[in-house]
This record gives sequence, structure tokens and C-alpha cells, in this order.
Amino acid sequence: MIIIMNRDVTESQIETVVSRIRDFGLDANISRGTERTVIGAIGDERKLDPEMFDSLPGVEYSMHIVKQYKIVSRESHPLDTVIDIRGIPLGGRQVQIIAGPCSVETQEQMDASAQYVVDAGCRLMRGGAFKPRTSPYAFQGKGVEGLDMFERAAGKHNLPIVTELMDVRMLDTFLERGVDVIQIGTRNMQNFDLLKEVGKINTPVILKRGMSATISEWLMSAEYVAAGGNHNIIFCERGIRTFETAYRNVLDVTAIPVLKRETHLPVIIDPSHAGGKAWMVPALSRAAIAAGADGLLVEMHPNPVDAWCDADQALNPSELKDLMGVLKQIAQAIGRDL
Ligand code: PEP
Ligand code: MN
Repeated sequence: MIIIMNRDVTESQIETVVSRIRDFGLDANISRGTERTVIGAIGDERKLDPEMFDSLPGVEYSMHIVKQYKIVSRESHPLDTVIDIRGIPLGGRQVQIIAGPCSVETQEQMDASAQYVVDAGCRLMRGGAFKPRTSPYAFQGKGVEGLDMFERAAGKHNLPIVTELMDVRMLDTFLERGVDVIQIGTRNMQNFDLLKEVGKINTPVILKRGMSATISEWLMSAEYVAAGGNHNIIFCERGIRTFETAYRNVLDVTAIPVLKRETHLPVIIDPSHAGGKAWMVPALSRAAIAAGADGLLVEMHPNPVDAWCDADQALNPSELKDLMGVLKQIAQAIGRDL
């Protein structure tokens, strides 16, 4: 951390900063320039925060010089991490497409969905039993009954399941039911207590980007999970909120190469919640895979017009199958498989 002092700083103000640094077990290096005095904190600067210095007399501003995320950073782990989901690798050469409905509705809908997911060539299935809805009067999900429907449907095909955890009180139920991948949704990206709890287990976690979260905030949220011991984290970009209203969110494709550089963990894209319309999903999916995403989380419904949630953005089964064919070619063109 470096602390830049005001032009007219006094010796006693410098001393106060230096002793605060020493109180935290770090050393201080004072550099007196012609315009400014800069104090460098030497040691593990993650113990320090700009807030500790910015309010002291004589301080102009202070800033970290090393990244605040450690375990998830590529600096700490140069090679790509490949996450094993019941034998299915995510983050390696093979691109994984996780498909399924926005929400679990009925056993018939889930049975049909699972069959279509397999027919399209996808190896993992998504579906929400607990739904984060803007309106408290909208369908909130089938809850535990929905998890059971999902299990039965996916179990027939041995498909690992991905489903959203909103409430930490449901974590044990998720573990008892054998949920293979826990999704932390956009609205919970900074629910730090939830992140700490999923950090204590080993189940892979898909961490969706908060709708207005910076890349650095997102990485820090992943660090919360990792700090608890769970390093099986998958980043999922799902579109961010901007001034644009022509589509549901703006798919931040730039986040793919940036995250790939910053972290060793896999990065997937949710084109469905980004575009918000089924017709946009193929183009966004193609862009995502071409840009280096390790997979997609995509909504597909056996009969989209009847979907109880996000009907507009669900692909139908044949659209999913067609998309898989195109994505296979793109994957091959960039040296990957699907
Ligand atoms: C979802 O995947 O069903 C979902 C609710 O996504 P998000 O958290 O990205 O809005
Ligand atoms: Mn949805």
C-alpha cells in the first residue's frame, strides 16, 4: 500500500502514518520527493485498507498496490483449473453447455427437458427450484418438491444438475439431495454470508456476476468462497445493466479475456439472461465461445410459450440442437472440443 501525503505535510503527520503501519506489523518506507512525500507499507498489505489512512491529517490519498484477491488469482495459480463435475470436466479443452429450463415446473416438463438436453448433446442440466423474482407475487419456484422432480428427471440420464441456492437455510437440503453444482445468482453475488457458507463445502459453485458488479468486486466475491476452502468456482457472466434498453442486459464479452487473464478458474456465459430474447441467444453464444468461454448456461424449454418463467428467452429443443452443431464448429476452429 502506498500513502501519498499532502504538499504541506508535517513531520508529526508522517510519524502518525508510519506508526499506524507498524501497528499492523508492516514496515514503512518514506520517500521524500520535491513535490510530495510518499510512504510505502512493506509487508502483507492485505491487512491494510485505504480507509485506515485516508482520514488521517496530512494524507492526500492511499491505495493498494497488490490485488486484493489471492487464491482465485492467476498470479497464485498460473495453470487453468479444471473442475470435475461427476467426471465431466469444466475449464479444460472441452466446452460444456449446461442447458435446461429457467425453472422447474412439473415432472413431465423436467422429464422432457432432460431428454432434450441429452438429445442435443449437452452433458449438464440447469433448472431453478428456488427463483429470485422481482415481484413477490410472481411464481417463486417449486422449492424442495422441484429439487426432487429435477433429481428424478436428470437421474434417468445421469446428468449432473445445476440449481440456484438463495437461502443458506436450504444448503443442507441441497447437499442431501446431491445437487452437483450450486448456482449463486446475480442478486446474491455479494451476499457474503451465503458465499462464506458455500465456501465451507466442496460442491462446485457457479458464481454469477452481479448486474452492476465490477470485475474486481466479482473476483473478491469468489475470493470469499475460496477463502473458506472451496476452490471449485466457476464464473458466469450473464449481462450487466447499462443505459441500453433494447435488450435485457448487455453481455460483457470483454469480461471473458479479462477474467481469463486475472483468474485460473473457468468462465462461462449465460446468453439467455443477457439478451432476454431467444432469437439473440445463438449470436451471443457464438460470440462467447469464440471469445474463449469455457461453457454456457443456457435456457431451453420443451415448449417456450408455456414456460412459467422467462418464456421469451428460452430456446426450443430444436434451436438448442442447432446451436450445439454451430458451437461445435466454433470450438474446433479455436482448438477446443464440444
Ligand atoms: C437464472 O439463471 O435462472 C437466474 C435467475 O439468473 P440471474 O441470477 O443471472 O438473473
Ligand atoms: Mn431465467
